[in-house]
Amino acid sequence: MLENYYVDKKKKENGQHEVHKDWCIDIPSPDQQLFLGSFRTDKLAVEEATFFFGKVCACTKCCES
Ligand SMILES: [Zn+2]
Repeated sequence: MLENYYVDKKKKENGQHEVHKDWCIDIPSPDQQLFLGSFRTDKLAVEEATFFFGKVCACTKCCES
């Protein structure tokens, strides 16, 4: 199943940008998020986000890995 992924434009304290699914409770506000696209796995979405922001991580609330 495809899910829509977003990445936070703002870095966290550890310098990483967090990747979220569109239904996440922790999703950033619309002006602080960048739409990545629809992916089958969290890993693919994180890889895509790496092209925009060097250091990214998957949100622990909405992503399994
Ligand atoms: Zn999330």
